[in-house]
Amino acid sequence: MQYASTRGHPASPHFSEILLGGLAPDGGLYLPKSYPQVTSDELNAWRELSYADLAFAVLKKFATDIPEDDLKAITDKTYTADVYRNVRDGEDASQITPLRVLEDKDGRKLLLQALSNGPTLAFKDMAMQLLGNLFEYTLTKKEAELNIFGATSGDTGSAAEYAMRGKKGIRVFMLSPHKKMSAFQTAQMFSLQDPNIFNIAVEGVFDDCQDMVKAVSNDLEYKARQKIGTVNSINWARVVAQVVYYFRGYLSATSSNDQKVSFTVPSGNFGNICAGHIARMMGLPIAKLVVATNENDVLDEFFRTGIYRVRKSAETWHTTSPSMDISKASNFERFILDLLDGDSVRLAALFHQVETQGGFDLSGNPGSDGDEFKKIVRFGFESGKSVHADRLTTIRQVEKNYGITVDTHTADGIKVALERIEPGIPMIVLETALPAKFNETIREALGRDAERPAGFENIEALPQRFEVMTTDIEKMKAYIVGHTGL
Ligand SMILES: *Cc1c(COP(=O)(O)O)cnc(C)c1O
Repeated sequence: MQYASTRGHPASPHFSEILLGGLAPDGGLYLPKSYPQVTSDELNAWRELSYADLAFAVLKKFATDIPEDDLKAITDKTYTADVYRNVRDGEDASQITPLRVLEDKDGRKLLLQALSNGPTLAFKDMAMQLLGNLFEYTLTKKEAELNIFGATSGDTGSAAEYAMRGKKGIRVFMLSPHKKMSAFQTAQMFSLQDPNIFNIAVEGVFDDCQDMVKAVSNDLEYKARQKIGTVNSINWARVVAQVVYYFRGYLSATSSNDQKVSFTVPSGNFGNICAGHIARMMGLPIAKLVVATNENDVLDEFFRTGIYRVRKSAETWHTTSPSMDISKASNFERFILDLLDGDSVRLAALFHQVETQGGFDLSGNPGSDGDEFKKIVRFGFESGKSVHADRLTTIRQVEKNYGITVDTHTADGIKVALERIEPGIPMIVLETALPAKFNETIREALGRDAERPAGFENIEALPQRFEVMTTDIEKMKAYIVGHTGL
């Protein structure tokens, strides 16, 4: 299988060649030249598979240049009950993404698919753990090394560190805003003692951290010499790894392939739901894909109006579902290419316009940039929005009606799912984090602390290993050189 840039760059690399990279040379994102299809017979055979075997079956359609035995060893090592052990009482960790029925009456069926049982208690572990093993495999083969340099406000950085800890040939340098993450998130990252993990607490806010990453990455000579790479949400392997749990959710919720299901996905960078779109394009019988946003509602606005209008950082609100505080959805370009029927020339123009004019308009109204909005229904997309007050109400109602505590992001998903659920079609909400990660809001909603999985009870008391730094770029560069010896 060959890949192509959304913006039409002529190169057509294979899976392993884009694994360690980020954007395509023309600034676009990689997509397969055509989506592999899944037949009904295959789907039936997949019903019986373990999660690891299902991941192998899906991934081998995309990673055609990795020998099958090697890929199988990687998926077997990644998707184990030991890695995804943080299940709720009574749930079976060997299922990896257990599906729980929240409601089933009068033809209305609401389900919750747990994607947050990995080491950092958020769904990013589903893909990042695979990436860690894929990176180690590829780097070992090439006798190469990689220094991952990134910025985090919480979930992504910790998922990357837990995936890369102790991996041969890989170091992680992760910037975070000093004293701005929750005590739990800080403890999760800073308590790692692995010598290949470097936590750098920057005296500034998240945007300062991100500016430092950009400044260092723009020095191309330095970047090449220090073998610097990223693991951000546009990474194609992360998207593919996420395709797997849509298949698992569908297969667990149905008994035959003439049934359909819908998914509601708490969304920020459009990475998670983009995987759902790809599963649907591969032939998975998905009725609707519902995008749930928080107060930062760029995506909800697009799916209601056809107008994509990104916001500046000053107009990006800090909310109580912080992992969705995003105003420029980095994976959105992948879906828009399909909406434009693969026209990469128009796509490049529209995303150039995002940089120069802050967005584009596909509503079909006079003066708009196109009328593709009318085609959205063909792709099953719908959307909705949830704000802080909704979050509190939903967390309380879910506890009262279904007897479990959900985190703030998942609460946004459930609120929107209940607006979009249809009789006869099961609605699966993806659970993107466990409530312990966002305890402050659980206390506000329920007047008590969220339950913590075993092993996390005293995480704040563990010794912490981190370096405090100013926003000085030259010092940052020297710090990396000092630790890579390159
Ligand atoms: C990252 C994240 C999201 C948003 O996922 P995208 O792929 O960026 O749309 C939602 N919830 C939680 C808890 C997250 O960590």
